[in-house]
Amino acid sequence: MSLADGRSPYGRAARLLSRGLTEARALDRADPLARLRSRFHLPPGKVYLCGNSLGLQPKRAGEYVNAELRDWARLGVDGHLRAAHPWLPYHELVTKASARVVGAKPLEVVVMNTLTVNLHLMLISFYRPTKTRFKIILERSAFPSDQYALASQVRLHGLDPKRALVELAPRPGEDALREDDVLSAIEREGGKTALVLLGNAQYLTGQAFDMKAISSAAKRQGCRVGFDLAHGAGNLALALHDSGADFAVWCTYKYLNAGPGGLSGCFVHERWARARLPRLEGWWGTSKRERFAMKPSFQPLPGAEGWQLSNPPILQLAALRASLELFDEAGMPALRKKSERLTGYLEGLLSRLPNCRVVTPKRRGCQLSMRVTGDRKRLVRRLAAAGVVCDFREPDIVRVAPVPLYNRFEDAWCFAEAMAAHA
Ligand SMILES: *Cc1c(COP(=O)(O)O)cnc(C)c1O
Repeated sequence: MSLADGRSPYGRAARLLSRGLTEARALDRADPLARLRSRFHLPPGKVYLCGNSLGLQPKRAGEYVNAELRDWARLGVDGHLRAAHPWLPYHELVTKASARVVGAKPLEVVVMNTLTVNLHLMLISFYRPTKTRFKIILERSAFPSDQYALASQVRLHGLDPKRALVELAPRPGEDALREDDVLSAIEREGGKTALVLLGNAQYLTGQAFDMKAISSAAKRQGCRVGFDLAHGAGNLALALHDSGADFAVWCTYKYLNAGPGGLSGCFVHERWARARLPRLEGWWGTSKRERFAMKPSFQPLPGAEGWQLSNPPILQLAALRASLELFDEAGMPALRKKSERLTGYLEGLLSRLPNCRVVTPKRRGCQLSMRVTGDRKRLVRRLAAAGVVCDFREPDIVRVAPVPLYNRFEDAWCFAEAMAAHA
């Protein structure tokens, strides 16, 4: 059943929406960032709203990856020093742009490994439980990998996750955490808490947190604080340095469009740049002058680079460069501005539909999560048949992410139309 069909049981909503297509196209014509869409490969025939799971491929990614393949073919091992972009310092090519995306100083940022690996590396350094201070405050519905990482680190210290993990949940009947509840939990449990670790934005609800308020509350209680920015980097306008957080980790294959299995970003606040923290060590984290001296003693590089273990995958870094260039071209403030309008527009369309209820609070990135009613299996099939790529989480959550780099107002409209047609 289409929106144009007068017999739709959602007649009024349908008529409003169909008038909306003209409006959506006008908004796209007026969008100063609209041109960036043409810089991505768009899956043909799809309305792609899944950039929160896997960002689309920037067209230049292939060019950059191929350049490294060619240099490898041409130069072999000499590419480490003589490639057009020598591989030895290659990771440095993405440091400044990554720091701009998350609001950090270059010294505080490194791109290495993958997200869960970096989370473990950070936990080794920043989760140092004692007899009296051993708890970790986290969200109840944290991303499973984070939950596993935290529980296993707790066990690594000989502690019981049931006693050490303090899980924050929304109030009964509510879908998102209240920030006041987070702050009062930190006040209540702070004296026994070694670490506060939250996702920002929360992957399931799309809720964003005030990192500065949470970091300050945690510091007042003497806790360390870290953030998982898998859904924040490239999505929210972050100010990591000013937030005062001790560390943060993120992946680059979601909003940062670095491709499947893309590397992870890692932030360590400047205050730790020269501190002798316990850490897992590897040769890429040692002083660049000493690295090839092959000496037995480890001299950590200052800042986040000192947590590197291995020489990084150049092909993945090459793909990331292509995406970061687009972030620099657009700038996070402009992207955020469009993002707020685009997501607000979609929320307005969805508010007219009787079969879904948005649960994402106003403090958020681009993602909207909604609870849907009716036959969910059928809805998922309908959305797929309409070419909509989005994501469904049991029992009743649909998540959509209109991404300001490549999504249009028309995409938002198409999604709302497909939802309305699910009668
Ligand atoms: C996507 C995501 C991950 C994925 O972890 P990988 O180590 O990259 O596989 C972890 N945590 C959160 C919150 C995520 O959203």
